[in-house]
Amino acid sequence: MLNIDFGVFVMNDNWKIETQLVRAGYEPKNGEPQVTPIAQSTTYRYDSCQAIADLFDLKAEGHMYSRISNPTVAVLEDKMAALEGGVGALALSSGQSATTVSILNICESGDHVVALSTLYGGTFNLFKHSLKKLGIEVTFVDPDISSEEIKAAFQPRTKLLFAESLSNPGTKVLDFEKISAITREMDVPLIVDNTFPTPYLCQPLRLGADIVVHSTTKYTDGHATSVGGIIVDGGHFNWSNGKFPGLTEKDASYHGLRYTEAFDKAAYIVKARVQWIRDLGCYMSPQNAFLTNVGLETLHLRMERHSANALSLARFLESHEKVSWVAYPMLESDENYVLCKKYMKAGSGVLTFGVKGGREEAEKVMDALQLASRVVHVADVRTGVLHPASMTHRQLSAEDQLMAGIRPELIRVSVGIEAEEDIIADFSQALDFI
Ligand SMILES: *Cc1c(COP(=O)(O)O)cnc(C)c1O
Repeated sequence: MLNIDFGVFVMNDNWKIETQLVRAGYEPKNGEPQVTPIAQSTTYRYDSCQAIADLFDLKAEGHMYSRISNPTVAVLEDKMAALEGGVGALALSSGQSATTVSILNICESGDHVVALSTLYGGTFNLFKHSLKKLGIEVTFVDPDISSEEIKAAFQPRTKLLFAESLSNPGTKVLDFEKISAITREMDVPLIVDNTFPTPYLCQPLRLGADIVVHSTTKYTDGHATSVGGIIVDGGHFNWSNGKFPGLTEKDASYHGLRYTEAFDKAAYIVKARVQWIRDLGCYMSPQNAFLTNVGLETLHLRMERHSANALSLARFLESHEKVSWVAYPMLESDENYVLCKKYMKAGSGVLTFGVKGGREEAEKVMDALQLASRVVHVADVRTGVLHPASMTHRQLSAEDQLMAGIRPELIRVSVGIEAEEDIIADFSQALDFI
């Protein structure tokens, strides 16, 4: 692991994930603070010019400037790498920057990406419009079409397949076996956005994914305090298959260094840091890393409660006469139930439902909620609701909305960790308004 210079880096493979969540990444030495300190410093002092020159040449490990690495952020990076089972991680200023850098790190103008169409709205816009301006084309495929049809979307310059482990907002569970068999055969990495399940409920790197990205803004922080993202490198993809010259050929900005040669299994994640974060500058701040790390310490407790509350609310809504449908992957009636049981420890805290009627009735119910907040956010301790068609996905055309699974009457509920009875009572009174 890179750049640990206070405390002692701890990652014990015998520890269960609950212990990793509380303890991995930082252990104070004699007399040091018990809680990870916030290294609120842009820069780091060295004894000689040579020591700094060695850092610039990537010959020595150490912090140089907080646009590229920082001790507090490093604790979060090492903890997330341990939780996901990766060889290294890179924390960024948002989930969007994590997704963007995960792709720019291996794609350039003229390259191509295949993405499953059930995606977060921001990712969809990035793929459909902004990457296109950089000369990177994305083909969206329906996750339910056959493997043969998905393979037909590949082109000679396809460099990766992108998917969400549990899609936002449609809560579609990724068929890891089917999709990872395709990426293995096509010899490209599978990048999985694991924001909704978090590593506590699902670990994509152990299910065939090669790279994991997160919006840590969501459950990882879990308290709606900090926008952030992270990339975790599984360390097992063979970048020397001829398709990834950026990793195997000389980087002129480091005197001709080759990442695969110099960093072996960590080539991808080191390149993302020393090349793209150096140049784009979208690194996570120490303050946000501190808050996100405090959030992670209770992730296991929160995800259990989010999931239990969501299942109870899903069951309540499913039996309600004014509700036409409910989607929650841990409902026996849900089309994702089998895959959810197979790949996830629980269903996470997000569900969607449609009220009888349509958009107008959906808005009436949303406005009548008292405990549940109307917010453009998901995955924190407070129950929140959102109407994707008029909010997060409003920039998408009606056709693109349907492709991403957004129906006009769909309400997304991010079920919090308040008392189950209070959450259900709130939805019950709100549904009485229609
Ligand atoms: C929110 C979200 C993102 C974007 O993350 P930001 O931190 O808001 O930039 C990406 N993917 C998923 C699944 C999300 O829910």
